[in-house]
Amino acid sequence: MRGTGVTTISRAGEGFEFVCADGTAGSASKILLATGLVDELPELEGIKPLYGVSVHHCLYCDGFEYAGKPLAAYGRGDKGAELAVMMKYWMADVVACSDGTQVSAQAMRKLAEHNIPLRTEPIRHFEGADGELTKIVFEGWPDLPRAGLFFSTGCHQATDLSERLGCKRNAKGGVVIEPDTEESSVSGVYVAGDVSRDVLLVAVAIGEGAQAAVAINKAFLRRDGFYD
Ligand SMILES: Cc1cc2nc3c(=O)[nH]c(=O)nc-3n(C[C@H](O)[C@H](O)[C@H](O)COP(=O)(O)OP(=O)(O)OC[C@H]3O[C@@H](n4cnc5c(N)ncnc54)[C@H](O)[C@@H]3O)c2cc1C
Repeated sequence: MRGTGVTTISRAGEGFEFVCADGTAGSASKILLATGLVDELPELEGIKPLYGVSVHHCLYCDGFEYAGKPLAAYGRGDKGAELAVMMKYWMADVVACSDGTQVSAQAMRKLAEHNIPLRTEPIRHFEGADGELTKIVFEGWPDLPRAGLFFSTGCHQATDLSERLGCKRNAKGGVVIEPDTEESSVSGVYVAGDVSRDVLLVAVAIGEGAQAAVAINKAFLRRDGFYD
């Protein structure tokens, strides 16, 4: 166990060599990439103290607690509208906010169909106390009192290690797992957790970690003639 970041991994014969941020290096027969993703927080004044308490990115993680409360769905272009429609399935009082960006006619129709109001004005800042959002303040337009906000702004890989190793990625940027070998497209490189950008939940990450560990063990058994 090394409490440092891996900066590079490169192929060395059948295996790999890696270098760490603290200057140490090493070699490995197999690599398990479990480096996760980074959520892109909207660049809005006042958001940081609220993030993780009353401002969230994942409906599946935090949506349940907000049933019956007034909420906002934030996303530029159609993203906020699309999120608002998903939220409306569970929550009665949802307002979509596009922060000064245009929403397509199709997304507007969907909002109207589900009786979801849309605020397109640019957001000036968020107000709240002790992590709890109280209102969204718009540029020159009335404030919107809200108890919570979910946003849809995307996320990216925490490291470019998979990219530099040449692992195939899907349209969302997730590392693709080959169903036959349970490896990435690069032989000897396995992935677990958010790196695959599949379902982004702790339970799934743990499950994928166990699955990858079994696949790695079977690969060693095969290599050493214990398993066909
Ligand atoms: C605010 C928030 C709330 C969430 N709430 C929930 C929830 O309620 N329920 C739920 O199931 N999920 C929730 N999630 C999602 C959940 O946290 C992730 O799905 C899960 O942590 C993914 O696990 P992982 O191991 O793939 O990645 P991570 O947990 O992101 O772990 C990746 C690790 O890799 C390390 N790392 C990155 N780069 C390097 C490097 N170059 N070298 C060495 N180490 C490196 C990082 O430091 C980190 O420790 C939440 C996420 C966030 C951000």
